[in-house]
Amino acid sequence: MLIKNTLFGEIDMVAVAIKRIQDAYEISKSQNKGALYVAFSGGKDSVCVAELCKMAKVPYELHYNTTTVDPFELLHFIRDNYPETIFEKPRYSMWQLIVKKHMPPTRIARFCCQELKEKGGENRICLTGVRRFESVKRSSRKAFETVTSKKDRILFDDNGEFRNALEQCTIKAKIVCNPIIDWEDEDVWEFIKSNNFPYCKLYDMGYSRIGCIGCPMASRFERERELKEHPFFKQKYLDAFDKMLKEMPEETRNWKTAEDVYNWWLNDKIEKQIEGQEEMNLNE
Ligand code: SF4
Repeated sequence: MLIKNTLFGEIDMVAVAIKRIQDAYEISKSQNKGALYVAFSGGKDSVCVAELCKMAKVPYELHYNTTTVDPFELLHFIRDNYPETIFEKPRYSMWQLIVKKHMPPTRIARFCCQELKEKGGENRICLTGVRRFESVKRSSRKAFETVTSKKDRILFDDNGEFRNALEQCTIKAKIVCNPIIDWEDEDVWEFIKSNNFPYCKLYDMGYSRIGCIGCPMASRFERERELKEHPFFKQKYLDAFDKMLKEMPEETRNWKTAEDVYNWWLNDKIEKQIEGQEEMNLNE
């Protein structure tokens, strides 16, 4: 049992999370939206949400958005432990997107997330494993919020400081419930380990985040490590960069070889964006 001492007395974090899930299902039922749609990533937070759904005894479905840069260890973990998971296939692979966009995804041009990760859940009540404490700036987070403007479009796996327990995404007609929004890392691990729930072996190999190989949102250290330990993906990125360069008009090419692109991409920092390189506003 996860008990937190607060100004208002002791709080049972698990009971609170279960109640949020049950409330979410009540909303779903009242709107004839069927089982809860769990945006399941296979990471530790998603495991908590999946297990909490079981404990809440409500109908739910686990949906995993395949990104084509998913670590094999993660896919095996999901198949072995959560075989009921529905694998959603993307319209384009990461490799096709790179060629199409004429650039690899960067911190300020995360076109891949919109295309690969944010599909599904339209007109459903969605559950995520988003937590406030994943963000360094967490003090101003509120408990509940209704999102009403286009710029507030919700990404399932963004752990921003303004994420709330219950959210409404007007753009995709989704109501999103984040049942473990107020859990800290140690709460997540305590819940998993004290209940003997399964978790992906990548955590025991020292990975602190699990997800797309080469994700520009990870640190350079993490990216270099995962690409070194998953050489298949490094080669796929190089092949995609090569194809991209061949398809780009010469005057817009900032790089000569796939290796140039690769090195630039690994050095991706907002302040190092190459002059003239395409920048994308996610809200547009
Ligand atoms: S998690 Fe990272 S690599 Fe994966 S789709 Fe989002 S930005 Fe792209």
